[in-house]
Amino acid sequence: MIVAANFKTNLTRLETGEYLGELEGMLPKLEGVEVRVFPASSSLVPHKGQAVVGAQNAYPAKSGAFTGEIGLVHLEEFGIETILVGHSERRHVLHESQVDIAKKFDFFKENGFEIIYCIGEPLSVKEQGLDATLAYLQTQLEGIDLSYAKLVVAYEPVWAIGSGLTPTLEEIETIHDALKRIAGVKLLYGGSVKTDNAKAIMELPSVDGVLVGSGALKVENFFSMINDAITIKKG
Ligand code: PEP
Repeated sequence: MIVAANFKTNLTRLETGEYLGELEGMLPKLEGVEVRVFPASSSLVPHKGQAVVGAQNAYPAKSGAFTGEIGLVHLEEFGIETILVGHSERRHVLHESQVDIAKKFDFFKENGFEIIYCIGEPLSVKEQGLDATLAYLQTQLEGIDLSYAKLVVAYEPVWAIGSGLTPTLEEIETIHDALKRIAGVKLLYGGSVKTDNAKAIMELPSVDGVLVGSGALKVENFFSMINDAITIKKG
Protein backbone atom coordinates (compact mmCIF):
# COMPACT_ATOMS: atom_id res chain seq x y z
CA MET A 1 0.00 0.00 0.00
CA ILE A 2 1.27 3.46 -0.86
CA VAL A 3 0.14 6.52 1.08
CA ALA A 4 1.25 9.76 -0.58
CA ALA A 5 0.87 13.42 0.37
CA ASN A 6 0.84 16.18 -2.25
CA PHE A 7 1.43 19.53 -0.52
CA LYS A 8 0.79 21.48 -3.77
CA THR A 9 1.67 25.17 -3.20
CA ASN A 10 1.54 24.86 0.59
CA LEU A 11 4.06 24.49 3.43
CA THR A 12 7.36 26.38 3.35
CA ARG A 13 10.73 24.64 3.52
CA LEU A 14 10.78 25.18 7.29
CA GLU A 15 7.27 23.78 7.70
CA THR A 16 8.07 20.84 5.43
CA GLY A 17 11.18 20.00 7.48
CA GLU A 18 9.14 20.15 10.71
CA TYR A 19 6.38 18.01 9.16
CA LEU A 20 8.84 15.33 8.04
CA GLY A 21 10.57 15.33 11.42
CA GLU A 22 7.25 14.90 13.24
CA LEU A 23 6.07 12.24 10.83
CA GLU A 24 9.22 10.16 11.17
CA GLY A 25 8.89 10.42 14.95
CA MET A 26 5.33 9.01 14.78
CA LEU A 27 5.90 6.20 12.29
CA PRO A 28 6.30 2.64 13.52
CA LYS A 29 8.59 0.42 11.44
CA LEU A 30 6.69 0.14 8.19
CA GLU A 31 6.13 -3.19 6.51
CA GLY A 32 4.02 -3.37 3.39
CA VAL A 33 3.22 0.36 3.52
CA GLU A 34 5.20 2.95 1.58
CA VAL A 35 4.98 6.65 2.34
CA ARG A 36 5.63 9.42 -0.17
CA VAL A 37 5.65 13.18 0.47
CA PHE A 38 5.61 15.70 -2.38
CA PRO A 39 6.53 19.21 -1.16
CA ALA A 40 6.62 22.38 -3.29
CA SER A 41 9.84 22.67 -5.33
CA SER A 42 11.33 25.35 -3.07
CA SER A 43 10.55 23.19 -0.03
CA LEU A 44 12.49 20.14 -1.18
CA VAL A 45 14.74 18.97 1.63
CA PRO A 46 17.34 16.24 1.86
CA HIS A 47 15.57 13.55 3.84
CA LYS A 48 16.52 10.14 5.14
CA GLY A 49 13.78 8.15 6.78
CA GLN A 50 10.85 5.91 6.05
CA ALA A 51 8.95 8.61 4.17
CA VAL A 52 10.33 9.17 0.67
CA VAL A 53 10.35 12.77 -0.54
CA GLY A 54 9.43 13.30 -4.19
CA ALA A 55 8.96 16.19 -6.61
CA GLN A 56 5.56 17.51 -7.67
CA ASN A 57 7.01 18.56 -11.00
CA ALA A 58 10.21 19.30 -12.88
CA TYR A 59 11.20 20.22 -16.41
CA PRO A 60 12.32 17.26 -18.53
CA ALA A 61 15.94 18.40 -18.88
CA LYS A 62 19.09 18.05 -16.82
CA SER A 63 19.48 21.85 -16.73
CA GLY A 64 19.34 24.68 -19.27
CA ALA A 65 17.40 27.78 -20.37
CA PHE A 66 13.94 27.03 -18.93
CA THR A 67 13.16 30.09 -16.82
CA GLY A 68 11.16 29.35 -13.72
CA GLU A 69 11.60 25.61 -13.95
CA ILE A 70 13.77 23.16 -12.06
CA GLY A 71 15.61 20.32 -13.79
CA LEU A 72 17.19 17.00 -13.01
CA VAL A 73 20.26 18.52 -11.35
CA HIS A 74 18.02 20.27 -8.82
CA LEU A 75 16.34 17.00 -7.91
CA GLU A 76 19.63 15.11 -7.77
CA GLU A 77 20.93 17.66 -5.25
CA PHE A 78 18.29 16.38 -2.80
CA GLY A 79 18.45 12.73 -3.83
CA ILE A 80 14.92 12.88 -5.30
CA GLU A 81 14.02 9.79 -7.32
CA THR A 82 10.23 9.95 -7.42
CA ILE A 83 7.99 12.42 -9.23
CA LEU A 84 4.35 13.21 -9.97
CA VAL A 85 3.61 13.49 -13.69
CA GLY A 86 0.29 14.52 -15.27
CA HIS A 87 -1.37 15.91 -12.14
CA SER A 88 -4.75 17.42 -12.96
CA GLU A 89 -3.59 20.90 -11.90
CA ARG A 90 -0.66 20.63 -14.35
CA ARG A 91 -3.07 19.52 -17.08
CA HIS A 92 -6.01 21.84 -16.44
CA VAL A 93 -4.59 24.90 -14.65
CA LEU A 94 -1.13 25.01 -16.28
CA HIS A 95 -2.31 23.56 -19.62
CA GLU A 96 0.30 20.83 -20.06
CA SER A 97 -0.68 18.82 -23.12
CA GLN A 98 -0.60 15.03 -23.33
CA VAL A 99 2.44 15.40 -25.61
CA ASP A 100 4.26 17.51 -22.96
CA ILE A 101 3.30 15.04 -20.28
CA ALA A 102 4.47 12.02 -22.29
CA LYS A 103 7.83 13.78 -22.91
CA LYS A 104 8.16 14.40 -19.18
CA PHE A 105 7.28 10.78 -18.47
CA ASP A 106 9.92 9.54 -20.94
CA PHE A 107 12.62 11.80 -19.52
CA PHE A 108 12.09 10.70 -15.92
CA LYS A 109 11.71 7.08 -16.98
CA GLU A 110 15.07 7.29 -18.77
CA ASN A 111 16.50 8.64 -15.53
CA GLY A 112 15.08 5.76 -13.50
CA PHE A 113 12.54 7.70 -11.42
CA GLU A 114 9.52 6.18 -9.77
CA ILE A 115 6.67 7.98 -11.58
CA ILE A 116 3.28 8.54 -10.01
CA TYR A 117 1.33 9.24 -13.16
CA CYS A 118 -2.01 10.99 -12.62
CA ILE A 119 -5.12 10.66 -14.74
CA GLY A 120 -8.72 11.71 -14.17
CA GLU A 121 -11.85 12.84 -15.95
CA PRO A 122 -13.64 16.19 -15.64
CA LEU A 123 -17.29 16.24 -14.49
CA SER A 124 -18.62 16.72 -18.03
CA VAL A 125 -17.03 13.40 -19.02
CA LYS A 126 -18.15 11.56 -15.87
CA GLU A 127 -21.72 12.64 -16.66
CA GLN A 128 -21.49 10.83 -20.02
CA GLY A 129 -21.09 7.50 -18.23
CA LEU A 130 -18.54 4.77 -17.64
CA ASP A 131 -17.58 4.03 -21.25
CA ALA A 132 -16.91 7.71 -21.96
CA THR A 133 -14.92 8.00 -18.74
CA LEU A 134 -12.74 5.00 -19.57
CA ALA A 135 -12.22 6.23 -23.13
CA TYR A 136 -11.14 9.63 -21.76
CA LEU A 137 -8.77 8.05 -19.25
CA GLN A 138 -7.19 6.01 -22.03
CA THR A 139 -6.37 9.23 -23.93
CA GLN A 140 -4.39 10.28 -20.86
CA LEU A 141 -2.34 7.09 -21.14
CA GLU A 142 -1.33 7.83 -24.74
CA GLY A 143 2.43 7.79 -25.21
CA ILE A 144 3.00 6.32 -21.73
CA ASP A 145 5.00 3.11 -21.39
CA LEU A 146 2.70 1.06 -19.19
CA SER A 147 5.34 -1.66 -18.88
CA TYR A 148 7.69 0.69 -16.99
CA ALA A 149 8.45 -1.14 -13.74
CA LYS A 150 8.52 2.02 -11.61
CA LEU A 151 5.15 3.32 -12.82
CA VAL A 152 2.29 3.86 -10.40
CA VAL A 153 -0.96 5.32 -11.76
CA ALA A 154 -3.07 7.65 -9.62
CA TYR A 155 -6.73 7.88 -10.62
CA GLU A 156 -7.88 11.32 -9.55
CA PRO A 157 -11.20 12.52 -10.96
CA VAL A 158 -10.80 16.26 -11.66
CA TRP A 159 -14.18 17.03 -10.08
CA ALA A 160 -13.14 15.29 -6.85
CA ILE A 161 -9.85 17.12 -6.34
CA GLY A 162 -10.10 19.72 -3.60
CA SER A 163 -13.91 19.71 -3.84
CA GLY A 164 -14.89 17.54 -0.90
CA LEU A 165 -16.74 15.31 -3.39
CA THR A 166 -15.71 11.72 -4.01
CA PRO A 167 -17.02 8.97 -6.26
CA THR A 168 -18.88 6.21 -4.44
CA LEU A 169 -16.76 3.26 -3.33
CA GLU A 170 -18.45 1.21 -6.04
CA GLU A 171 -17.51 3.77 -8.70
CA ILE A 172 -13.88 3.83 -7.53
CA GLU A 173 -13.67 0.05 -7.61
CA THR A 174 -15.28 -0.15 -11.07
CA ILE A 175 -12.81 2.34 -12.58
CA HIS A 176 -9.80 0.86 -10.79
CA ASP A 177 -10.76 -2.63 -11.84
CA ALA A 178 -10.99 -1.48 -15.46
CA LEU A 179 -7.69 0.41 -15.19
CA LYS A 180 -5.99 -2.67 -13.73
CA ARG A 181 -6.98 -4.57 -16.86
CA ILE A 182 -5.76 -1.76 -19.13
CA ALA A 183 -2.56 -0.77 -17.35
CA GLY A 184 -1.73 -3.67 -15.01
CA VAL A 185 0.10 -1.41 -12.57
CA LYS A 186 -0.29 -0.29 -8.95
CA LEU A 187 -3.21 2.13 -8.68
CA LEU A 188 -3.73 4.94 -6.19
CA TYR A 189 -6.99 6.79 -5.73
CA GLY A 190 -6.88 10.57 -5.21
CA GLY A 191 -9.52 13.27 -4.82
CA SER A 192 -10.81 14.54 -1.46
CA VAL A 193 -9.36 11.66 0.53
CA LYS A 194 -9.66 12.52 4.22
CA THR A 195 -9.21 10.74 7.52
CA ASP A 196 -12.85 9.64 7.50
CA ASN A 197 -12.89 7.96 4.06
CA ALA A 198 -9.27 6.82 3.50
CA LYS A 199 -9.64 3.39 5.11
CA ALA A 200 -12.76 2.38 3.19
CA ILE A 201 -11.12 3.48 -0.08
CA MET A 202 -7.87 1.63 0.62
CA GLU A 203 -9.81 -1.52 1.51
CA LEU A 204 -11.20 -1.75 -2.03
CA PRO A 205 -9.64 -4.73 -3.84
CA SER A 206 -8.25 -2.74 -6.81
CA VAL A 207 -6.89 0.17 -4.77
CA ASP A 208 -3.19 0.04 -3.87
CA GLY A 209 -3.09 3.28 -1.94
CA VAL A 210 -4.09 6.94 -1.89
CA LEU A 211 -2.71 10.27 -3.07
CA VAL A 212 -3.88 12.95 -0.66
CA GLY A 213 -3.78 16.74 -1.09
CA SER A 214 -5.38 19.05 1.47
CA GLY A 215 -6.29 16.14 3.76
CA ALA A 216 -2.58 15.51 4.37
CA LEU A 217 -1.50 19.05 5.22
CA LYS A 218 -1.76 18.33 8.94
CA VAL A 219 0.76 15.68 9.89
CA GLU A 220 -1.55 13.98 12.40
CA ASN A 221 -4.17 13.47 9.67
CA PHE A 222 -1.64 12.01 7.23
CA PHE A 223 -0.33 9.77 9.99
CA SER A 224 -3.87 8.56 10.72
CA MET A 225 -4.24 7.51 7.06
CA ILE A 226 -0.89 5.71 7.16
CA ASN A 227 -2.11 3.91 10.28
CA ASP A 228 -5.26 2.88 8.39
CA ALA A 229 -3.08 1.46 5.63
CA ILE A 230 -1.06 -0.51 8.19
CA THR A 231 -4.22 -2.24 9.44
CA ILE A 232 -5.38 -3.33 5.97
CA LYS A 233 -4.43 -6.83 4.94
CA LYS A 234 -5.07 -7.86 1.36
CA GLY A 235 -4.62 -11.35 -0.02
C1 PEP B 1 -4.20 15.92 -5.17
O1 PEP B 1 -3.68 17.02 -5.16
O2 PEP B 1 -3.62 15.01 -5.78
C2 PEP B 1 -5.46 15.73 -4.48
C3 PEP B 1 -6.03 14.56 -4.57
O3 PEP B 1 -5.98 16.77 -3.78
P1 PEP B 1 -7.15 16.74 -2.66
O4 PEP B 1 -6.88 15.56 -1.77
O5 PEP B 1 -7.04 18.05 -1.95
O6 PEP B 1 -8.45 16.57 -3.38
